[in-house]
Amino acid sequence: MAKGNTYTPMIKQYLEVKQQHLDAIVFYRLGDFYEMFFEDAQIASQELDLVLTGRNAGVEKKIPMCGVPFHAANSYIQRLIQKGYKVAIVEQLENAEEVKGLVKRDVIKIVTPGTNMDEINDEKNNIYLASLYDFQYGLAVVLFEMTTGELKGQIIPKNMMSIQKALLGNNVREVVLGEKFDSKVMKMIKDMHRITLSQHNDFELKGQYESFVEKIEDERLKKAFALLTNYLDSTQKRSMSHLKKMELINEQNYLQMDFSTKQNLELTQLLRSNSKSLTLWSFLDKCQSSMGSRLLKKWIESPLVQKSQIEERLEMIEYLNENFIMKDELREHLSNIYDLERLCARIAYGSASPRDVLRLIKTLQHAPMIFELLQDCKSYEKLKQVDVCSELLLKIDGAIVENPPLTVREGDIFVDGYHEELDDLRDISKNGNQWILELEAYERDRTGIRSLKVGYNRVFGYYIEVTKMNVPQIKEEFGYVRKQTLTNAERYVTSELKEKEEAIIHAKEKIIRLESDLFMDLLEQLKVYLPKLYDLAAALSTVDALYSLAEASSENGYTKPIFHNENRIILEDARHPILEKVMKGKPYISNDLMMDEKDHVMMITGPNMGGKSTYMRQTALIAIMAQIGCFVPAKKAHLPIFDKIFTRIGASDDIMSGQSTFMVEMMEANHALQNATKNSLILFDEIGRGTSTYDGMALAQAMIEYITNHIQAKTLFSTHYHELTELATQQKTIKNVHVEVHEENEHVTFLYRMIDGKADKSYGINVARLAKLPLPVLERAKVLLLELEKQESLSVQTQQQEIVEIENPNYNKIKDMLKLVDINAMTPLEALQFIADLKTIVKE
Ligand code: ADP
Repeated sequence: MAKGNTYTPMIKQYLEVKQQHLDAIVFYRLGDFYEMFFEDAQIASQELDLVLTGRNAGVEKKIPMCGVPFHAANSYIQRLIQKGYKVAIVEQLENAEEVKGLVKRDVIKIVTPGTNMDEINDEKNNIYLASLYDFQYGLAVVLFEMTTGELKGQIIPKNMMSIQKALLGNNVREVVLGEKFDSKVMKMIKDMHRITLSQHNDFELKGQYESFVEKIEDERLKKAFALLTNYLDSTQKRSMSHLKKMELINEQNYLQMDFSTKQNLELTQLLRSNSKSLTLWSFLDKCQSSMGSRLLKKWIESPLVQKSQIEERLEMIEYLNENFIMKDELREHLSNIYDLERLCARIAYGSASPRDVLRLIKTLQHAPMIFELLQDCKSYEKLKQVDVCSELLLKIDGAIVENPPLTVREGDIFVDGYHEELDDLRDISKNGNQWILELEAYERDRTGIRSLKVGYNRVFGYYIEVTKMNVPQIKEEFGYVRKQTLTNAERYVTSELKEKEEAIIHAKEKIIRLESDLFMDLLEQLKVYLPKLYDLAAALSTVDALYSLAEASSENGYTKPIFHNENRIILEDARHPILEKVMKGKPYISNDLMMDEKDHVMMITGPNMGGKSTYMRQTALIAIMAQIGCFVPAKKAHLPIFDKIFTRIGASDDIMSGQSTFMVEMMEANHALQNATKNSLILFDEIGRGTSTYDGMALAQAMIEYITNHIQAKTLFSTHYHELTELATQQKTIKNVHVEVHEENEHVTFLYRMIDGKADKSYGINVARLAKLPLPVLERAKVLLLELEKQESLSVQTQQQEIVEIENPNYNKIKDMLKLVDINAMTPLEALQFIADLKTIVKE
């Protein structure tokens, strides 16, 4: 066919592959490069800053193309995965030199955000792939972590809160679902932005995966699991053998918090990712290994509710801190422990490198000392019984060289003495060089040619080189065979040289092959120990996480919390764990919190910026830290064990896009009111702020009444509606506290101290003064405030008769304007203009 009408055979081959993988960027191997074409090239060039070029493809117009060198491909692939793309890797399946025409190529693997084995930057994070099975009135969710093989299952209702908790709360990066999936739920997941959606339609459980779910009875979970494994097979192009058995998530075993609560309290993720602040996790993380950090993260996300379990951890922390010299020794050994959990997964998956095995050996060398140090500790008996795999260590200790290569293909993996045949081969290969030198001396001697050289090149192998001038000195009896003629030299071989060459070159090849075989054997041997190694990894991570909590507790002077069965909170000199450390210049003010059994709601009033939400957050953080089994930032802490924590603090609307702030506020409040029990902790910060005053106040009051009458959960409720403080006079279960403020000549100083009783004013204008608003604005606002207050008392008087009548209609106008204006969104100039407008109305 004439040029210009049809693509070249290679592009046709490309398009065939691409057709099968429309949702992935295809990395198409061409010699030393992976090339991308058409739209993939456009996307990749933008996302990876690559130069976009054009390629002749047989048709008239060049097609877009960009590429990356194959040896550097991994970092490019990782960057695309980070951004939520999938990458299909197409390799040449034949040696280009041996085939005429087009080389066979096909996809060897699809790397996706949820099935990424090489996440280099994220050692401390678990990243999950989720598969969902939609059974009309709910979802079966299976979570899988590729780098550790962890497998969890859960049935959840089809609502936003639950889906968010299951997916975002577990750091799910990719979701696999079938074609017949609830489109509303699908949209919800899409709106979460951080998750890549993948479709797969095979729900049939394959034989080799049955054992992983043998204890699971729920057919719906099995369906989701089948979908997951079939998807894995199709992307990894190999059978997955590193899965662990599926565990069911039972929320009742943990302190329950929804995703937004965890976010609001910044337990493991910051609310704003660009902020430099610390999460509770990063603050407490003193772990020496990444697997320890990951376990600590899980503990923080799922604090305990069983007193005995919490106390077991607390006792260990106490023990470690009492024996601090031993603790130092423990840290020393822990710092030599590698990420055994991921090492195990790589061994099971078959991708472990020689370096991984060396790390395993080092870990096994230090493990026994770690458990020995803990022998005298009374708690955590089960830790001391773990098998430290000494038998395995005996087998592999000293097998690997100190600085092994990254891949098996490079040889030099095993030490001398590991394997007899390997030693012999190495001898030949090493001594070969010596032999060549000796041969050179011998040949110089017998030919009398001083400049004779023995050399090597890839085409001819070893040769003896003699300059043209000396050629006549070569005698028949030397047995030289001419191999190559250069301009001023001749190259020869002898049968002896050829023989040795064979031996040397083959020895090198054989060494690589033998070492690779030996290494595969070793991995097979290691696989037998995997169940024990996984247990050891779990035990070591536990010690590491406990060490971390102990270290954080002693470093910061924390106190052991005491749990009791009465529903009472006593906190003395409590602090916010992170704020107290990061505040520069001024000291952090500690505070008490007392809530008796009969106290349900603590109403916190006081000016903006007075420290109300900090006080609430610190209370929740202390409760969480205590239930993790950590000591807490307070002089004394007596606490009940909470079953659930609910928060409505600040703006988390960015997470649930498409919803108004007020709607999110109401959804979160509703969730708390529907699910809290008398053993829960509720934090409501300025609830009702998102709507007009009377609406907001009415809602807030109704919620407080509902909590105290029906739920009786311990509730901290901050509000700027001073009217609500009156509730405390009607109900004994409601208690007022307020932020102490020092006022002098209209200048306020915040003391950040909580004292009993209600605040008498809001100090909004004083705060504005602190923010350095222009003086005329402040003065004018003061006048208006006085007028409004006068009006308010007027309207309160008339409220009983339900007549709100104000003679001058302009007052209503001013009131409406003030109600509607958002001071926070105004520039000083706009504020001035606003006051000028008000003034005009008053003049009227
Ligand atoms: P509110 O919720 O009353 O508006 P915040 O709790 O947000 O106030 O506190 C505002 C700021 O006040 C905090 O960012 C912090 O810098 C400071 N602050 C709060 N509590 C304390 C405290 N106990 N000691 C010292 N500074 C505090």
